[in-house]
Amino acid sequence: MLIRCGADDIHLPSNLHCCRRVDVRQRLLRSEVSHVRMLPCMAMSWASSDNSRKTMRANRGKDTRPELAVRRILHARGFRYRVHFKVPGMPRRTIDIAFPRQRLAVFIDGCFWHGCPDHYAKPKANAGFWSEKNASNIRRDLEVSHHLRQEGWGVLRFWEHHEPVVIADAISHEHQTITRSNSQQSLVNESQHPAAPRGPGI
Ligand SMILES: [Zn+2]
Repeated sequence: MLIRCGADDIHLPSNLHCCRRVDVRQRLLRSEVSHVRMLPCMAMSWASSDNSRKTMRANRGKDTRPELAVRRILHARGFRYRVHFKVPGMPRRTIDIAFPRQRLAVFIDGCFWHGCPDHYAKPKANAGFWSEKNASNIRRDLEVSHHLRQEGWGVLRFWEHHEPVVIADAISHEHQTITRSNSQQSLVNESQHPAAPRGPGI
């Protein structure tokens, strides 16, 4: 299943099981909206400034809780990856979870800092500053995704409110797809350029 998110395409496995409510799941499957829709079972209210402040603090740095949860699942499934991997050609930017050999970049964007359409609520104080800050973060995300694609990378972006197992499923699926297509490609290359036959030994 493919979900379009602005310039990004997000693959999701068809066995979504993150929400028990059938109506929500069906809505999710029909969804053509940006990013994967938030599930009510995970809904958080960011209306109050207290909540916003907590969220800002919680999502400031690297190794956020959602990132750690996804990494733990991937690791348990046998995937090996790099974290905070420098974007090739943009050394000041990093990829949250990178598979350099497969050229697959995964970002788990914080709902506040990256302007999640479901959760971002503009703080009342310094509204102008925060609008500009979020706009520049979103611009930078697009630049990084675009740059990586130009370099031949696959890019997956998720919101931190997505359930970790759903994110891990989507990453696993994409990783397997790339690996399969790489091995098919190398078979084609081998058949087009077979190794030179060995002559008899002297
Ligand atoms: Zn969100």
